[in-house]
Parts: sequence; C-alpha cells; structure tokens
Amino acid sequence: MQIAQNSVVAFHYTLTNDAGEVLDSSEGRQPLTYLHGAGNIIPGLEKQLEGREAGEKLNVTVSPEEGYGEVQPQLVQEVPRDSFQGVEAVEPGMQFQAQTQGGPLMVTVTKVEGDTVTVDGNHPLAGQKLNFDVEIAQVREASQDEIEHGHVHGEGGVEH
Ligand code: ZN
Repeated sequence: MQIAQNSVVAFHYTLTNDAGEVLDSSEGRQPLTYLHGAGNIIPGLEKQLEGREAGEKLNVTVSPEEGYGEVQPQLVQEVPRDSFQGVEAVEPGMQFQAQTQGGPLMVTVTKVEGDTVTVDGNHPLAGQKLNFDVEIAQVREASQDEIEHGHVHGEGGVEH
C-alpha cells in the first residue's frame, strides 16, 4: 500500500549534511516509525514520503524551512553563570530546559567565559539542508486509537 494520511510507516534512514557528514542513522537499530499526516516527523520528509511503498529507497533533500527552521539569532543569549544554580560545572555542549515567554525551550551551552554563559535555543539542525537516505521498511493502516492519539502504538511507537 502507498503511504497516505493515517498510514503507519516504518523506515530506515541515514541523515547527512551538505558536507557529507553522517548526523544520524537508524542503522543497527529499529526503523523509525511514525503516523503519516500527524506531524510526527519534519514536514519536508513527510511530504516526500507520500505515495511511496514498502521496499522503496529514496534520497530526500529537505531545506531548513521544511526541516528544523532557520537559525534565529535572538535565540542565542548570554546569561550569568549564577542562573545555573545547582550545576557544578557548566560546559559547552550541556543542554538545559529554559523557561521562556513562549514556554519551555531546550538550550545548548555554546560558550563559557568567566561569569558569562552563552546558550543557544536553536535546534542543532536549524539552518541546515538535510539529506536523508531512506528505505521504507513497512507501511500499514493506522488503528482508530492511533489516529485519535496522533501517534503510533506498539512496536516502534508509544506503549500505553
Ligand atoms: Zn496513544
């Protein structure tokens, strides 16, 4: 069957950036499983999987606007070291949940200089063109429960 609204899709992927570096891969793991049309995966990838079938291999290129967005400079901020209370050593690469006006936001520490810590709230893949090598492993129809919940149940999905 072809991938359409309310298909449950399992696929293997290797994600590379424009420099050809592998950023993520499902190799050696279970395939990624998602509910098609529910916004479970980035829009650019979902769109290009539409109409495909199990067994197909394809290469998908996703622009930042259909991926993780453009880099937003206002999400890079300098905060005082004091705001990390209870954290012994603040180092680049650490991630924290920050409270912002728009709700909780995952930020990454990018620089520590004296008492000043620079944090970046952009997604690590923001601003990047993404290349996915995809192999579709399985396509099935979603159950009524899955459609109502907006996610996959059972293998590769939510257990509840
Ligand atoms: Zn559910």
